[in-house]
Amino acid sequence: MIRRRAFLTTLAVTAVPAAPAAALAAPPAVPVHSCADWGARPPAGLIEVVNRKPQRILIHHSTSPNLDDQSIGRAYEHARWIQNVHMDQNGWVDSGQHFSNSRGGIVVEGRHGSLAALESGTSMVAGAHCPGQNDVAIGIENEGLYMDISPPVTQWESLVAFCAHLCFRYGIPTSEIFGHRDFTVTQCPGDALYALLPRLRSEVTALFR
Ligand SMILES: [Zn+2]
Repeated sequence: MIRRRAFLTTLAVTAVPAAPAAALAAPPAVPVHSCADWGARPPAGLIEVVNRKPQRILIHHSTSPNLDDQSIGRAYEHARWIQNVHMDQNGWVDSGQHFSNSRGGIVVEGRHGSLAALESGTSMVAGAHCPGQNDVAIGIENEGLYMDISPPVTQWESLVAFCAHLCFRYGIPTSEIFGHRDFTVTQCPGDALYALLPRLRSEVTALFR
């Protein structure tokens, strides 16, 4: 018993208080162009607001042509194209994804309410981008088709920055960035972009330091 007490005492004397976790610096905010900016159609039905934070981010590619046009006009056109496909062909109430990222590195709101929810940092709208994940994961559509080629630098850099912004606002761990194919049978987000996801997590994490 004496030895045990001595041991405990020694521990108490020499124990060093745990250093508080270093506060993570906020990554730079990323401007997001709203549905009003790109002239979205009004939703065809009710959009459900989920009053909790999303748990993860899912990366998609939109399979649109890999155009050289990096203008804001092209980003808006791409957003309208997706919305039309999702509403007119899929029969959804609105764009399925929460946000889109153009080849020119311009981030736009997808489903109405996604931007206001992000700014709140405490809620999300239910999307339609991956079965089983729509009310727990933010979906980002990247303009282009990335089976064989990687996104251009402008688009990659905005994807990294925007994922960091999402992780910061919502408190999502950077390890919770996945590809669409991680949750359902699909080629999305393409072999080339999917192969870059470890690098994406790493570069997003680096923006917090
Ligand atoms: Zn997808």
